Amino acid sequence: MSEEVESSRVPAYDSSAFECPYCNVYAVQDWERLTWPKMDGGKFWKGWKWSKCQHCQVLTLWSHLEKIVQPDSVPFGPDPNPDMPKNVLDIYEEARRVLPVSVRSCAALLRLALQVLIETLEPGRGHINQKIRRLVERGLEPSAQKAMDVLRVVGNNAVHPGSIELEEDGELVPALFGLLNLVVHHVISRPRQIEALFDSLPESARQAIAKRDQPTRRKSKPSSAAAQLPSPDSVKEVVPA
Ligand SMILES: [Zn+2]
Repeated sequence: MSEEVESSRVPAYDSSAFECPYCNVYAVQDWERLTWPKMDGGKFWKGWKWSKCQHCQVLTLWSHLEKIVQPDSVPFGPDPNPDMPKNVLDIYEEARRVLPVSVRSCAALLRLALQVLIETLEPGRGHINQKIRRLVERGLEPSAQKAMDVLRVVGNNAVHPGSIELEEDGELVPALFGLLNLVVHHVISRPRQIEALFDSLPESARQAIAKRDQPTRRKSKPSSAAAQLPSPDSVKEVVPA
């Protein structure tokens, strides 16, 4: 089966036929707009629809964001990085569940997940913004810093009046999942992988490295001092004006 035919079987908004999420049969779908009884006063957002499977006759509920709300067995967004801490993961999964209904809630939850992750890296006082700055000072990868800032800014826009129209850009909020995974990769997975590789070195090699990096007290040869990078301030002192 070609890739094109394969993708046409995946449930899609307004598609005339797809593989039903209930009976798994590729079947014709009848579409109907969702209306709410007038007595209730409320109404669904424009764009909410049912699709009815002609094979099993069961209804699938679609939101105005053109995503399936019911059945909720299809999780949205990419799978989480397996190294994601449990308290961050719980919020990540919650964000996946609300994505088809509210991109603002989803963005706000992903920002919260980032905040919880940052708390574990940089506990103590300060706003998320100040903590990101401290992490940058500690050597945070620039791409991880940018990913954190996108999550922070977009998430802030979801809860405060801002200049980003989240629903207008259908790609922005779903992309935040990938950014959070990227942050976890940089701050947890990669250091962990490098640590494991380092630990796999022969004992003698690790001892030699530890000896090399011991602070030298008696020796005052400049060679050992030169191995340490000077701080930007000390560079200023030696550079003639
Ligand atoms: Zn069906």
